[in-house]
Amino acid sequence: MNPSPILELQQVSKSYGRIKALKAIDLCIPPGSVFGILGPNGSGKTTLLSIVLDVLAADKGRYLWFGQEGGPEVRRKIGSLLETPNFYHYLSGEDNLRVTSSISGRGQSPEAITKALQIVKLEERRKSRFSTYSLGMKQRLAIAAALLGDPAVLVFDEPTNGLDPVGIAEIRELIRQLHAAGHTIIMASHLLDEVEKVCSHMAILKSGQIITTGSVEEVLADEDIVEVSAADN
Ligand code: ATP
Repeated sequence: MNPSPILELQQVSKSYGRIKALKAIDLCIPPGSVFGILGPNGSGKTTLLSIVLDVLAADKGRYLWFGQEGGPEVRRKIGSLLETPNFYHYLSGEDNLRVTSSISGRGQSPEAITKALQIVKLEERRKSRFSTYSLGMKQRLAIAAALLGDPAVLVFDEPTNGLDPVGIAEIRELIRQLHAAGHTIIMASHLLDEVEKVCSHMAILKSGQIITTGSVEEVLADEDIVEVSAADN
């Protein structure tokens, strides 16, 4: 028997005026996976993640986290990075995390902040101003913010976007480490290569529809599917 999904979408649809961004999406995300949602620009990845994070309302359908419909208890188990938080440039990385945790009410203890900084390997630069951070460091600080409160699930939208090769490699390695530490990870990407390298499971989203889903091995065994998704990237 398959384990109960950590996240299940049932017939989720969303339109922006005439644009049908998501068309009756059904999707199951298994616990313990690094689940990649692969799709070209405009395929609906951000819309899908925004809906399951309660940032956007779906027009139709429903989604269940841990078998339940919403609520603060459920929300506390999910950390997310949809877009880079508005960190203060003149504050240190550590002080920015303090501000973030006091706003969100998550992981407010000094120990929680230190742990998050250690995980993303920013402990040595904790006292440096945010403005002095490289793009990769800024992204790692954003991931540290998502880690506050030690959520079971982490949701990342295009976590390596805009980074140089070193920054990309660091974030991919961090995702692997977070998975090894027991987090389930859901990430959107437009890069087949990234999903192949980092994810255990995946779905391909195209024009608002899931065209296939399964383990990365299963999906990539289908040459037709690989051709379609590679052509889009
Ligand atoms: P990208 O990687 O470019 O962000 P995506 O796969 O995340 O793409 P979405 O951003 O979810 O895709 O967009 C899906 C469709 O909905 C696209 O056609 C996009 O232009 C449209 N769209 C997204 N947000 C809005 C909005 N606020 N108003 C109108 N149309 C929107």
